[in-house]
Amino acid sequence: MRFAIFGDIHANLEALKAVLADAEKHEVTNYVCLGDVVGYNANPSECLDIVRNLDCPVVKGNHDEQASIVDDLVGFNPLAEEAINWTRNQLSETDKQWLRDLKMVRQVRDFTIVHATLDTPHKWGYVFNQLDAAASFNYQHTQLCFYGHTHAPRAYIREGSVKSQLLDKLTIEPGKKYFINCGSVGQPRDGDWHASYVLYYPDKQLIELRRLEYDIWSAQDKIIEAGLPQRLADRLALGK
Ligand code: ZN
Repeated sequence: MRFAIFGDIHANLEALKAVLADAEKHEVTNYVCLGDVVGYNANPSECLDIVRNLDCPVVKGNHDEQASIVDDLVGFNPLAEEAINWTRNQLSETDKQWLRDLKMVRQVRDFTIVHATLDTPHKWGYVFNQLDAAASFNYQHTQLCFYGHTHAPRAYIREGSVKSQLLDKLTIEPGKKYFINCGSVGQPRDGDWHASYVLYYPDKQLIELRRLEYDIWSAQDKIIEAGLPQRLADRLALGK
């Protein structure tokens, strides 16, 4: 068994295709999605179709939530708000219902998945440091949990205190708990534009971060053509 764990696709079809091709090359048997399938980029319904067809566990992201309801937007910056309003007009009622039905937290085999945090998943807080991670660990009942939302891959490890480290290759060791950020497929924000996702090998207890080139130019062109803000195209190249 071999997992591909990916999230924050944000309607970036080119990046999603690169990730799925890489996963296939690595003979992945199971897919897991950490949410924010839509928002920001230009192919929300296409990305949603692909994720839905994978028929895999998916948790809800804040953009999935906002794109699928009719309420006024709360807590979004103007750039995200413009993209959400545009996205709402692209999605069918069936798409929106599928997004509304997503769960906030799920257990997959022996690990947990959540978009933002385990302590208050519906409040969409950001885990940016050991203190934030410690709050989430209090609600983590499995050794391993994968999350997204910050768009920056990172590993938090609790062994008494909570330590933080960049994610590359990581072996899961007994007696420790792990809160692993898989980065973002479609809008990385750690200064690296490459699409990000994680391979997880349960047999080897191994986690591996993958960074991939993709056709960023097409993704940017589509953003401009769709009439979405230019800054959303620019930021893809900057990785922030
Ligand atoms: Zn996101």
